[in-house]
Amino acid sequence: MRGLTVSNDLLVSIVLSNNDAIFALDRDRRIRFWNEGATNLFGYAPHDLVGERVDLLLDRAMKPERLGHFETTMRTKTGMSIPVSVRFSAIRDASGDVVGSSALIRDVVARKHEEISLRRRSAELERSNAELEQFAHVIAHDLQEPLRTMKGFADLIEKDAGEALEEHTVVLLDRIVQGANRMQELVADLLDYARAGTQQTPSDVIGCEEALESALADLEAAISEGGVVVTHDELPLVRGDRVGLMEVFENLIGNAMKFHGPDVPVIHIGAERRGPEWCLWVRDNGIGIGSRFAERIFEPFRRLHTRAEYSGTGIGLAICRKIVERHGGRIWVESEPEKGSTFFFTLPAA
Ligand code: ADP
Repeated sequence: MRGLTVSNDLLVSIVLSNNDAIFALDRDRRIRFWNEGATNLFGYAPHDLVGERVDLLLDRAMKPERLGHFETTMRTKTGMSIPVSVRFSAIRDASGDVVGSSALIRDVVARKHEEISLRRRSAELERSNAELEQFAHVIAHDLQEPLRTMKGFADLIEKDAGEALEEHTVVLLDRIVQGANRMQELVADLLDYARAGTQQTPSDVIGCEEALESALADLEAAISEGGVVVTHDELPLVRGDRVGLMEVFENLIGNAMKFHGPDVPVIHIGAERRGPEWCLWVRDNGIGIGSRFAERIFEPFRRLHTRAEYSGTGIGLAICRKIVERHGGRIWVESEPEKGSTFFFTLPAA
């Protein structure tokens, strides 16, 4: 910048060529200065307006005496009303007396349009989500009846025909029953998943420690059978749905026990305050997850293993994500294969 000195001429030239509309008023509300940005925005050239009262540009009862930053609408030369962000500042002379005011005006039409279309899109998304949940609910419900019928008739055939059935036929009938059982399991999970999204989220103050104790009580048999070690930090109070939080703990701890490696599962539940939220986590020493699957495992019915390797339907983490997101939180995993996984989730602090 050698050779450039900040002079009044320089400042005037910067203001004149500025993209934002800038003008100055005297104490009489008459326009004394009008830049190129103002010409572009309002359609008036400087000679149209200099000396005129500013009221020409104002919509409704906007007072140019009002200083500071605010949003309003103003009128262009063609009479069109446009949304603008306005900053009025007082201009003082050398002795500190107010001799007028300057205005910096920015066109916010594009931003307003964006806001409206964003709001529209999110309402649309909400509606289609609700519709999808409703749809899943109805399907899951209606599927149960034919499944019961299938199982019932397979049973009847086996009982009625009894000894007369060939061994091969009995095996086939068993397959039908197994298939129907599996289908019932999936349908029940689909219902749970649909329900997890439609419930209202209360904002009760809940103790994470109590929710954890309840979840551990439900898992008691599996914990003692596997010799699982579960420890936890001091856990906070959060705001939300107690049953939902229990379900999250139960799913995450259940997984931490199920996907264990050669060692006995060692599980730790931790918590850390992060601004208005608490971040909680469930850490295990299990088989871990490759980083490319870290997102996908939260999708409904997404699994990385066959049922022969590990039982389950793949809905648990999808339900956890729904519950956490209903609370305005996030859930994610950090993991390394064979080193264990840590599932983190955030909830609003109480
Ligand atoms: P499910 O347990 O019925 O398979 P989830 O939705 O709970 O369904 O989990 C989805 C998949 O994520 C699991 O099949 C597994 O591959 C992986 N996963 C979840 N938790 C863990 C964990 N603690 N350690 C390793 N893999 C896990």
